[in-house]
Amino acid sequence: MKPEPEDEPPQVQQQLEAKPRRLYQAWKGNNIFLCGGRLIFGPDAASLLLTTFLIIAPTIIFCYQMKSKFHDSNSTGQQHMHRAALVIVIITTIMDLVFLFMTSARDPGIVPRNTRAPPEADELLLGSNTPSMDWSDGRTPRMRFRRPKDVIVNGFMVKVKFCETCLRYRPPRSSHCSICNNCVHKFDHHCPWVGQCIGLRNYRYFFLFIATSTFLCIFVFVFAWLSVYSQMEDNGGSMWMALRKEAYSFALIIYSSIVVWFVGGLTVFHLYLISTNQTTYENFRYHYDKKDNPYRKRIAANFAEVFFTKIPPSMANFRSWVGEGALEAGFYTPYIGLDVTTPREKIDLDRENKEVLVGGRADPNSTSEHRLWFL
Ligand SMILES: [Zn+2]
Ligand SMILES: [Zn+2]
Repeated sequence: MKPEPEDEPPQVQQQLEAKPRRLYQAWKGNNIFLCGGRLIFGPDAASLLLTTFLIIAPTIIFCYQMKSKFHDSNSTGQQHMHRAALVIVIITTIMDLVFLFMTSARDPGIVPRNTRAPPEADELLLGSNTPSMDWSDGRTPRMRFRRPKDVIVNGFMVKVKFCETCLRYRPPRSSHCSICNNCVHKFDHHCPWVGQCIGLRNYRYFFLFIATSTFLCIFVFVFAWLSVYSQMEDNGGSMWMALRKEAYSFALIIYSSIVVWFVGGLTVFHLYLISTNQTTYENFRYHYDKKDNPYRKRIAANFAEVFFTKIPPSMANFRSWVGEGALEAGFYTPYIGLDVTTPREKIDLDRENKEVLVGGRADPNSTSEHRLWFL
């Protein structure tokens, strides 16, 4: 006789009742997902509101200034200049906000995590500096260590570490963001102003955001000074009178001269990083010499890598369905793009485990050298 649902043990009952969820609903990272997992923000995304305000407020003041000057101008030349300034600032501000949104609301390059560690291979040895707890055999847990692996990148030996939170080896150039609680590919830094990690998939937009902000600051600064200067000419060269009559321009000069140090300095620093093919994290941590950076190419090629290569698709499909059971039983994603698995390990894993790929995607854009690590 077929048992009634209420006769089932509580665990089975729970599984029967469990509704399938999408990956973003079960995601263990600290991200905020909107629009059904299509938009991915960091946990501090609220700071976006402040950043947006800091861009829009001075722009509104500047536009108001230009509009009133347009009406007060007594020559068509001045009118053209004020109208052009107005249009340029509006277009640049819109671009700035679009780049900000593209940086904040997209997957920065999150590396899908495993809910249980891949089976131990012969690389699991005592003595490294990455601890993990071994609960096998039901005995007292003891500290285990996963030794970093050496992989070859462009002829250089690079160490990849095991992430104890994501339970997998980090692809080269990845790091675990403690704020978002994810491993991020080509991790640059976590930016509190955009409330998101900066990584492989949003670095281009981040750079365009800071570069556009710098342009905006310099443009507003120059035009605000021109307004003060022309007011000085009208008031017999008195700077005091000019500043009194151009209070808004004066405020814009102060504001833009403070902000330009921040965004301009950041833009110059990132121009240096791009030209030498480093991330901020690598720059602070490894202090690469000219010769020991495995990723460095010619300057043009380094720039092309950031601005003219196709951005790879998200490694995690946050809208894919995951079964409740799969998450509880634990799964791992050993073969997704940029995983670090030697050929022998892969054969062993194939034999020993049923692979449950949840949300993981192979990276079609990984280079042949990258592919070597998981073939
Ligand atoms: Zn991690
Ligand atoms: Zn982060």
